Amino acid sequence: MKKTFLFILVACISFAQDAIRLNLDASGAPQRIFHVHLTIPVQPGPMTLLYPEWIPGEHGPTGPVIDMVGLKITANGQTVEWIRDSTNMYAFHITVPSGASSIEVAFDQISPPDTAGFSSGASATTELAVLNWNQFVLYPQGKPANQLTFQANLKVPESWRYGTALPIERESANEIEFQPAPLNTLIDSPVSTGKHYRTIELGRDGNIAHYLHLAGDSDRAIDMSPALIEDYKNLVSETGALFGSRHYRSYHFLYTLSDHVASFGLEHHESSDDRVGERALLDESEIKANADLLPHEFVHSWNGKFRRPAGLIDPDYSQPMKSDLLWVYEGLTQYLGEVLATRIGLYTQQDFRDELAIIGAALDREAGRKWRPLGDTAVAAQLLYNAREDYSGYRRGVDYYDEGTLIWLDADVTIRNLSHGEKSLNDFCRSFEGGPGGKPETKPYTLADVIAGLNAVQPYDWAEFFRTRVTDVEPHAPFGGIENGGWKLVYDSTRSALWRDFEDDRRAANFMYSIGLEVKDDGAIVDVAYGGAAQKAGIAPDSRIMAVNNRQFTTAVLREAIERTAKDADSIDLLVKNGEYYSVHHVEYRGGEKYPHLERDDSKPDLLTKIAEPLIRKM
Ligand SMILES: [Zn+2]
Repeated sequence: MKKTFLFILVACISFAQDAIRLNLDASGAPQRIFHVHLTIPVQPGPMTLLYPEWIPGEHGPTGPVIDMVGLKITANGQTVEWIRDSTNMYAFHITVPSGASSIEVAFDQISPPDTAGFSSGASATTELAVLNWNQFVLYPQGKPANQLTFQANLKVPESWRYGTALPIERESANEIEFQPAPLNTLIDSPVSTGKHYRTIELGRDGNIAHYLHLAGDSDRAIDMSPALIEDYKNLVSETGALFGSRHYRSYHFLYTLSDHVASFGLEHHESSDDRVGERALLDESEIKANADLLPHEFVHSWNGKFRRPAGLIDPDYSQPMKSDLLWVYEGLTQYLGEVLATRIGLYTQQDFRDELAIIGAALDREAGRKWRPLGDTAVAAQLLYNAREDYSGYRRGVDYYDEGTLIWLDADVTIRNLSHGEKSLNDFCRSFEGGPGGKPETKPYTLADVIAGLNAVQPYDWAEFFRTRVTDVEPHAPFGGIENGGWKLVYDSTRSALWRDFEDDRRAANFMYSIGLEVKDDGAIVDVAYGGAAQKAGIAPDSRIMAVNNRQFTTAVLREAIERTAKDADSIDLLVKNGEYYSVHHVEYRGGEKYPHLERDDSKPDLLTKIAEPLIRKM
């Protein structure tokens, strides 16, 4: 890959006497199998090797040990028998024979074809691969990850290029020798590699450089427009203005564009693993649908990696994480991601308001608000990331993202109003997430620290503010930020541009606020609103609409039938296939189409527009 970030090599030359040697052969990426060979310094006697279980940023026990195959351990050329722990599936016990000073460990890791899941989902195609080191290591139990040094070597398929934040010692053809690094840095520094590859420099802040590495399933996929590149350059400068310092040596966005790998973003101190569809840089609807992805993952370098809830810090990837503060870790990040997407030009101000309307409406209509407080969605994160879409509003999902946006908007507006415009959440970001910077480090926090940090910016009863919004069961979404920011949520029969983009992106039509269902373009019902008209008429999620008022289903036919209920119709007959049986459901509904928007409230100043304006003035 590029030699452009070799400047970071000077700082930390090898010290690795007792390093664990790791050879990863990724030349089998097109066949989705990777060969791992480790040489681990040991003492004779019993020892336990661990495979990473709790993956940072995924907030759950998601390490794909099920796909580790072919494990073989030797010492001095002799086989060493291993036995898996009977309750911890990630632990392997061995006895090192006398006279051995190291063991050789070999295994293969299969990368699944299934695009569900995060980094343990599909990560390789014939054209590209994203390599997360947690899938390619076993390490001795007993030492924290930052005290285990790894010396990694990587072989990629011939002529593939690559990008990573992991400092490089040297490279030749398709082989890269990395500098020795602690296990936590290794696992925090994934590599993307591919046949169709492009690295774009996004600018420096002092001597800190930023790179955007694009790996796609085709040359067309990585053809990023100059306008879009400009927006991401703005992201670098706007985060500098927001936080005031940076906690990394250089930053690398690993942006993967493929319909055949898992779609998600995963944060790291010095990089992010961001995966979207193959046309995400080309189709306007996909550009909008993914507008907040890179801003969100980038913000995590400050909020999530540098500042982290104490309960989410795991010294060796084997300790269960406590995720009750994810409404700060993910919620504040989600808010800042939306705000930054607007400040840098990926969203318009109208998009920003439409986004707030879309998430506000969805959260406000959830039947699950009557039984489950927001805080419980954070505590149960390790379950809810895998929750299905059926009856999702009744269950509630990982709501601390979107509801976090509303809560932190509320906090921002509260600070601005109480301080008469003198202070804002920007000041909290700078004081809580800033500091000297220049290298990755982690500074844990508790809820009391968050409250103290806010009080230092603007005195207020923040404990009560968060208790009512997080701990209590609240039947309505927190609209204080929108309403005290000069806007209100309304519904009308017109879809916003952003709503249409989301529908195009999901290949679905969302009628949740009229007849109470979301349906794919082929008639498959994604979900029904619990207590909505469709659910009351007996329709179940995961069934299929075959006909609307006796006419074959299309989205347009259903949309027009709903539109007629604004004037002269008071019901719609839907022929639905549920399993192998067909039945007609008489959906009683009046009022036409309904979609959420924000409407200006002239009695209050417009703070929303001010919040989303760039901090750096363009000439
Ligand atoms: Zn996140």
